[in-house]
Amino acid sequence: MSSDQSWKEKYFQELEAAEHREGHWKAERNTLERMLVRTCLASEGQALELDSLLARVRSDLRKNKVDVDSWRELQEQIDRQVALLDDVPVSNVGARPKLSSETVSEPKPLAEAKGEFDLPDAGNDSQRLRIARRVGHLLGQLLSQVSLDPDAEMTARNLQRALLSSDNWDELRDGLNQVADLIVAAVTRSQREFEAFLKRLDERLEALQEHFSVQSSAQSGRQAAVETLDRNIREEIEQVGRHIESSDDLQDLRQSVSRHLEFIGHAVGRFQIEETEREKMLSEQLLAMQERVAVMEAHSEQMQGQVRRERERAMTDLLTQLPNREAWQERLSFEFNRWKRYQYPLTVGVMDIDHFKRVNDSYGHKAGDRVLQLVAREIKNRVRNTDFAARFGGEEFVLLFPETRVDDALAVMDKLRAHISALPFHFGGNPVTITFSAGLTAFVPDDTEETVFDRADRALYSAKDAGRNCVRVS
Ligand code: GH3
Ligand code: MG
Ligand code: MG
Repeated sequence: MSSDQSWKEKYFQELEAAEHREGHWKAERNTLERMLVRTCLASEGQALELDSLLARVRSDLRKNKVDVDSWRELQEQIDRQVALLDDVPVSNVGARPKLSSETVSEPKPLAEAKGEFDLPDAGNDSQRLRIARRVGHLLGQLLSQVSLDPDAEMTARNLQRALLSSDNWDELRDGLNQVADLIVAAVTRSQREFEAFLKRLDERLEALQEHFSVQSSAQSGRQAAVETLDRNIREEIEQVGRHIESSDDLQDLRQSVSRHLEFIGHAVGRFQIEETEREKMLSEQLLAMQERVAVMEAHSEQMQGQVRRERERAMTDLLTQLPNREAWQERLSFEFNRWKRYQYPLTVGVMDIDHFKRVNDSYGHKAGDRVLQLVAREIKNRVRNTDFAARFGGEEFVLLFPETRVDDALAVMDKLRAHISALPFHFGGNPVTITFSAGLTAFVPDDTEETVFDRADRALYSAKDAGRNCVRVS
């Protein structure tokens, strides 16, 4: 190994040792500082002068600004105060009120001190223990009311155990000092928790309020239920408010608010269940009603169809499928009323098959029926849609020509007559000619349905008289 290397090695070893020493020294200093703080705290309450000196020590330590010169002076002052205290009987320490500076500078004899502080000398130890026990109990009560984090909880439990069982005054004194810190920590924590709790409560109530204002405007049918719920919630919130104002116990307050919140939650839950049931019931009712209405509609349509069909059947001649006499009467009344109102021309025709009896007699009743059907079909096909033809009875047919003058109706009737007379009927291999005679008349003032019909009928008979197969106007 060269001398250079050996020097370097020594240097690094020395450096490492120095770092180690410094670390150790820092740890030691830290421990000492903490001990010093504890000692200061433990020594508090002996004398005002001493308390302020100790407070300065703690403050300097906390701010990490220990000035050696000023601390030397501080140390001397503390020494003086401690020396003064040493003149005071130890039994009075920690159990009496703070002394004034005069009292400290000129300590009173034991008897005088006893009289002044009113503490029996013989009972001081037991007095201290009694106080420590009492604090232990109080700490127990405090622990049952507040929640601490696990570490603090453990410390507090150990502390309580020490306060309740230890007879070592130094240990008890340290413990009492720690109780104060614990209380501050616990109260701060409770305060924070309670604030967070109130914030959550506020948010939840706000959400509820919003929900219900939307709901209540949405449906007026649920007004009553919403009002009840609203009232319940308002009452609960008012109670919470009153409780918060009157109570100074955080634990009690928190439980009370929790209870109210729970009640509100139940009320809302109940409302929602009822609301769902109400809606379900309404939609079921609606569905049932819709089904019933659909059935009724179908039934009604069916009935209407039936009535319409029956009416048509009642108004139709079975053999010729032309409107029958009832239908004729109805239509005649309708057109008569229109004529009276508007006074447009209205012509009535009556036609009768000539010698129809012979057809029946010669070729049978069925042949007669067939003639009636064919004639009816020709009439139907040859009159206008606005005209109206019906089988009046037997081999007689009647016609109505609305808005048609009698001459125009005559032209139509005569064309029909010529057409039918030219139809090639064959019965039993024999060609047969079918003709009809007809009478026409137009409505004139003072006419009634009967007078017009009689006049048309008379015209028909005059056509018969004239030799048949012709149309006469009256
Ligand atoms: P006219 O030229 O004078 O009218 O002589 P007509 O034979 O036609 O008159 P009449 O009143 O004497 O005879 C009518 C016949 O019509 C009598 C009746 O049997 C017959 N008849 C009435 N309704 C029907 C029917 O629905 N079917 C058949 N086949 N014949 C009928
Ligand atoms: Mg006849
Ligand atoms: Mg006839």
